Amino acid sequence: MLFYPVGASGEVIQFEADVLDHFDRHRQLRFWHREAGGQLFARIDGLRMIVSEATGPRPEDKRGRTFFGPDRRSEQAEIDALFRRDLHYVGDWHTHPERSPTASGRDHATMASRVRLSRHRLAGFLFIIVGQLPPPGGLTVVVHDGTSAHLLAPVHADLAVDPA
Ligand SMILES: [Zn+2]
Repeated sequence: MLFYPVGASGEVIQFEADVLDHFDRHRQLRFWHREAGGQLFARIDGLRMIVSEATGPRPEDKRGRTFFGPDRRSEQAEIDALFRRDLHYVGDWHTHPERSPTASGRDHATMASRVRLSRHRLAGFLFIIVGQLPPPGGLTVVVHDGTSAHLLAPVHADLAVDPA
């Protein structure tokens, strides 16, 4: 289990195994693999944001080697459907054909424009880039607060104090 503390706020982001498996299946390990991506949905439990569902990619998305353009109607349908299961839309994920990915200029613009969609109390907008290395090395976890992007560093569960 990986935990990502959000600065000194006491807030912690964690990922359920199914979500990490979903990322793993879409890593761009071959030159012909296209970018994949989707949305992230979480349960909010006190100061913990537990990311429980990662959607996408969908057939309607536009995908290239270094491009991912999600279908907006599919996104809204997911937000509505998962909200009925008490899962809150907390951010987006997509892949890069890099070992340890870094956010591109376009990624920063996307983050800034999507923060207003983030309605939960915690942290801000969550933005995950899935690289070629397995997590945590290949997983870039960013929280955008509306002004700037903060890169989060992981803590392994065996070192972490249980935030509950
Ligand atoms: Zn990107």
